[in-house]
Amino acid sequence: MLTLNDISFEQALEYYGRSISALLVVDENTDSYRSVVRKGIFLDLLDESGTYANLVQKLWFHHNDDGRKITDTYNVFIPNMSKFTGKNSRRLKLLADGIPHIVQMLILPLDEEGRYLFFLDELDKHVFEEETETENKVSSIQNNIYVFTMTFDLANDTTRSVSLTEVSDEPLNYQLSYSEWRKTIVNMVPDEDKELFLTRSDPDYLRAHFKPGHMESFDLQMINLDGIYQWVKLIFSRMETTSENDYRFVYMVQNIHESTMNMKATLKHYEELASTDPLTSVFNHGRIETELRNAVEKHRSDSQPAGFMILDIDFFKNVNDQYGHAVGDATLVHLSEIIKQTLADRNAAVGRWGGEEFAMVVYGEDEKALLDTAELIRTNIESSAFDVAGSITCSIGVTSLRPEDVPDTLFKRADHALYTAKSNGRNCVCSE
Ligand code: GH3
Ligand code: MG
Ligand code: MG
Repeated sequence: MLTLNDISFEQALEYYGRSISALLVVDENTDSYRSVVRKGIFLDLLDESGTYANLVQKLWFHHNDDGRKITDTYNVFIPNMSKFTGKNSRRLKLLADGIPHIVQMLILPLDEEGRYLFFLDELDKHVFEEETETENKVSSIQNNIYVFTMTFDLANDTTRSVSLTEVSDEPLNYQLSYSEWRKTIVNMVPDEDKELFLTRSDPDYLRAHFKPGHMESFDLQMINLDGIYQWVKLIFSRMETTSENDYRFVYMVQNIHESTMNMKATLKHYEELASTDPLTSVFNHGRIETELRNAVEKHRSDSQPAGFMILDIDFFKNVNDQYGHAVGDATLVHLSEIIKQTLADRNAAVGRWGGEEFAMVVYGEDEKALLDTAELIRTNIESSAFDVAGSITCSIGVTSLRPEDVPDTLFKRADHALYTAKSNGRNCVCSE
């Protein structure tokens, strides 16, 4: 039987050596590690020797045997996350055979800079079960809100207390200047958002715009660990201070992907509502007018052929008088479907100009092709059997865009061509 007095430092070490799961020696300068002890899950997770970058990737990013590869953008964090100036200890959740294992990691710097001892100890399951439960609850609340937090100091160009919740729940005290950090982050942002990020995180901008306690935020997309762009809110807040030269800030990243996507869908929905004719679901008058302006501008800059047509149903008043307004409405819906189907393979915008008149902007067709298209619409309508109303015909006025056109001249020519079509006996196409 062992008594407490029997346990010397050497014996304590021996017991420790028996129970430790892995002990590694690491050299950051040559990017290498060697396993001194390797047991249990680490037989598979670690190698006899390997690169330090690969080790960090396995331990920090938990990307082990789940088939996921961390993206190049996140790789840029690795050199900064793997520098230690003092003792460091943290809990890791490592996946082995798809099962999470809780490991306590202790890092001790050796005498030379950049060389460390890594102690990795898998904890007994029952010890952490309850702990993980509460931790999971807390971190699932925090993770979903702030995916990244840190403080930085512009006066000294330093960052501190960096916490990347996807990687670790604890702050990682790695050495990274604020300027280096900006260069890293800009790589995680898509091209269209890079300028926004650089402008708003610029030290000069922050100094000029932030009084103590001032906070600003803006939204952009950022790549996550799986290489997928997510909408995030970046929050910069200058700490409360009475010193003019104190430029310490808190920086936080909030995941707003889901709400932003919902908001975008809602906006799109309202945008569609605002530009759609409620009866026929084709563009409304305002939206087709916008299309007309766009077409005029486009034609002026690229000289590509484009045309405009106005369609008016012949004797539509009779349909209403004979069968009632509801049948008239249903006929308008059916007619708009025929126009849409006829133009489905073309680059065209269809709208209801008002009442029983429709307007179409057609791109990429010269005068001849445009006339053929209008004629096709006319014959498709003529040959269709409408519920209740039976046969319907229409007259169409057509015109091609000219370089000197403004929306009004374009409309007037098409309208005049329509008038001619009506005068010529209806159920025909006229151009001007
Ligand atoms: P035409 O164009 O060939 O000269 O004869 P028309 O009978 O179609 O004459 P006009 O274009 O001047 O008449 C438009 C008629 O269309 C008036 C109205 O009864 C009908 N109309 C206009 N808007 C609507 C609508 O939203 N629903 C229904 N049911 N009818 C409408
Ligand atoms: Mg009319
Ligand atoms: Mg009419």
